[in-house]
Amino acid sequence: MKSHREVPLPTVGLSGFDASLSEEEQGAQQGMHRFAREVMRPIGRELDRMPAEQAYLPGSPFWRFHGEMMKLGMGPDAMMGMPPDLAARMEGIVVEELAWGDAGLAVSAGAGGMPMLMAMASGQQELIDLCAGKLGCWCATQPDRGSDGLTLYPEERFPGSKGNKGNLQATFIADEVIFNGQTSAWVSNGPVAQVALMDIVADYGQGFFDEQGSTYGCNVIVPLDIKGVSRGKPLEKIGKRPLPQGEVFFDNVRVPRRFAIATRDDYELKHGHAWANAGTAMSHIATGLARAAFESALAYVHERRQGGALLAQLQLTQYRLGGIGTKVEAIRAMARHVAHYTKTSPQAHPYFTAAGKAFCCTELMNVVRESLHLMGGVGLTREFPIEKMLRDAQAMQIEDGENHLLQMHYGHLLSRLHQQDGWGRA
Ligand SMILES: Cc1cc2nc3c(=O)[nH]c(=O)nc-3n(C[C@H](O)[C@H](O)[C@H](O)COP(=O)(O)OP(=O)(O)OC[C@H]3O[C@@H](n4cnc5c(N)ncnc54)[C@H](O)[C@@H]3O)c2cc1C
Repeated sequence: MKSHREVPLPTVGLSGFDASLSEEEQGAQQGMHRFAREVMRPIGRELDRMPAEQAYLPGSPFWRFHGEMMKLGMGPDAMMGMPPDLAARMEGIVVEELAWGDAGLAVSAGAGGMPMLMAMASGQQELIDLCAGKLGCWCATQPDRGSDGLTLYPEERFPGSKGNKGNLQATFIADEVIFNGQTSAWVSNGPVAQVALMDIVADYGQGFFDEQGSTYGCNVIVPLDIKGVSRGKPLEKIGKRPLPQGEVFFDNVRVPRRFAIATRDDYELKHGHAWANAGTAMSHIATGLARAAFESALAYVHERRQGGALLAQLQLTQYRLGGIGTKVEAIRAMARHVAHYTKTSPQAHPYFTAAGKAFCCTELMNVVRESLHLMGGVGLTREFPIEKMLRDAQAMQIEDGENHLLQMHYGHLLSRLHQQDGWGRA
């Protein structure tokens, strides 16, 4: 018999210990969760098992997902007009649910909106119209320029070394920008995107390097159905298989100079803005995937009997569940904190966002690994979604910047704040 003095169970929502969601936030969360469960999970599983060369062809489940996603009206303009703090919360709630459905498809949707996000930030109607209704991609990394593209300060380079101009550059001549070279095979949506946000090195007439040996950069919106653009094959990989990735090649591709949204003097700031937005999205994606893995293990221990009881009834299991559940809450708290700071601070910084991404993704890996471990042998089989989640989580340790390197950049930022601003000496 239960004691009438028993402490009642706490109030929890879909996402856990989240007591302060407004009605609007709860409505968005529930709607997105339904979409994630009914549309994204089945499509993600289907795409995961298809060969990459078939998975993204016209009429494939990949395009069915984007068709359904478009109907939701959750594009980059969905939160326009909201106060920044509420927009940061709402973005977290929405992206967490999408990633709960499928982390690769969530990235496809996010990367797909990057050109539009930057076009809207530029306020140029022509560029907004150019991106409208199109799937986008973010062309930043190249075969010889991976982590180097995410280094902001010259003193972070090996002493005596110059910046890295990579394999794809823009040349600004008169009122045109000309692109030559190729991206890495990692560009999300690369094989199928219709418009690109270029985030690469540029020559404005005095070469690629300044007097410190750092490269000049640019952000330019480029439609991908124009002369000189071609694609590589979609990449076969172990994780995030529902996300198409592949090279984009540029052979004397020309666009008007007015398609540039960041050039020589304002590039670093705008590049930082785009990267910080990507980093916050990655942190929310880590939250959704971590929760999905935890929930799989939680359900399993309520079905599996060993040691004379359901696994869930055994104290060792409860201890392990407690550890995983705590990490899920910590990942979400970090993701929301970073998003709030990035959207509301007068001077946000991509190295702080990078710290959030690295923390969330490192703990994500721990959550998924421990959840699979808790499920014993069946966790390794295709019968349960957890093995796919492990593969997806592994990709996130490298995606949008490798975690160790991001943590190193954050450490560099802390040190500069101490040396230059006296931060931490009060
Ligand atoms: C799922 C996924 C999606 C992606 N989406 C996109 C996209 O949309 N657009 C895009 O442009 N790119 C994309 N990328 C590319 C991604 O940003 C790069 O893979 C990442 O930045 C790392 O670069 P790299 O793979 O060339 O590794 P490298 O930079 O070659 O790094 C290899 C190893 O060396 C270490 N290392 C690198 N530099 C240093 C240093 N200075 N000191 C010490 N160690 C170092 C790294 O930590 C890493 O462990 C994606 C990647 C993945 C996996």
